[in-house]
Amino acid sequence: MKPALSVLLFCACLAAAATARAEENCGPVAIAPVAGATGARVHDYEPVFESCARNGETRFATRSFRIDGEKLLLTVDPQTLATSLERAACWRCAETNDADEADTRFLQAVRPPADPNRPPALVNAGLIHGEGAGVFITGDLCPSHKPLDRAFIEEVAAQGPGAPLTLAVSGAWIARHAEDFAWLQEKAHSGAIDITWANHSYSHPYVGGVKDAQNYLLRPGVDLDREIFETEKLLIAHGEVPSVFFRFPGLVSDAALLEKLKERHLVALGADSWLALGPPPRAGSIVLVHPNGNEPGGLQIFARLLKSGRMPGPFRRINEAPAHRTMQQSSAAASPGLSEQVSRPGVCSPWESDSCPAEAKALPERSARF
Ligand SMILES: [Zn+2]
Repeated sequence: MKPALSVLLFCACLAAAATARAEENCGPVAIAPVAGATGARVHDYEPVFESCARNGETRFATRSFRIDGEKLLLTVDPQTLATSLERAACWRCAETNDADEADTRFLQAVRPPADPNRPPALVNAGLIHGEGAGVFITGDLCPSHKPLDRAFIEEVAAQGPGAPLTLAVSGAWIARHAEDFAWLQEKAHSGAIDITWANHSYSHPYVGGVKDAQNYLLRPGVDLDREIFETEKLLIAHGEVPSVFFRFPGLVSDAALLEKLKERHLVALGADSWLALGPPPRAGSIVLVHPNGNEPGGLQIFARLLKSGRMPGPFRRINEAPAHRTMQQSSAAASPGLSEQVSRPGVCSPWESDSCPAEAKALPERSARF
């Protein structure tokens, strides 16, 4: 063999070996959890919108950041809505835009077609109902001084291994409940439950006695990007992966806030069955409870519905809730949503035939807890 050819072959072998090693390092990245981690572990956190390809797969990158010097991406599958952290070096990414990706299920979830049956409302904007059988159980972890209601989590886990549960978590709750958060992580890692982490803002602003239109994230000076990103960074720093869902504190937003959320490629997550307020869950309902210690009445109703067989089954993953076709939320139009319901003061659910639990009767009008 001529020397020049052998050198070429040697170089080609080296390159192939390097590529193989790089491929071995590709695939979803698991960030090792660190006790007491803060968002400061995550550097250069930025919103992006890129279409990324590798081995015939396509993902959208919605955030880029660095951990320990390595550039990573928060990505979403355009059809399944599953999110994962990926090494930027493993993907070929190019900037894209909403118009070019409008046909994907992800963009249709972020920017659903206007529903004539649901005029724009201050309360409960976004996805309130999913398609098909079963229910989507969502629990809000607004900031709270009280411990996590672990009994509720156990009730969900008792539905079977990997029972799906969406937790809309505020960063401030994670920062204050390290033990409870680690307990939830252990529940998920052991396979007892399958947690989807929705974002419930970081600080969950609220001032008592102020109208909704000037409250929650509509408070003057609120920085929506900071509220979104600080919670995402905290989840990532703890080894978790943020989903594409965001629940507005108090379920309160306006058109401008909703548009900003869409620009960050998040899906507004409402609910059509806030158990403490009604109406009752039906097939496809997005059910809302508060396992943060502040709404035991709703959890009691949850337990009674399970026990009496009045909770439609099975429990489903929230990624399955957005429509798989263009006519988003058409099935939700058949009955009133929660927007009218939650504007009333919190009272014992009118549809409950059982006697109302004292806690539910005592519920004040929506407060900082929600
Ligand atoms: Zn809340």
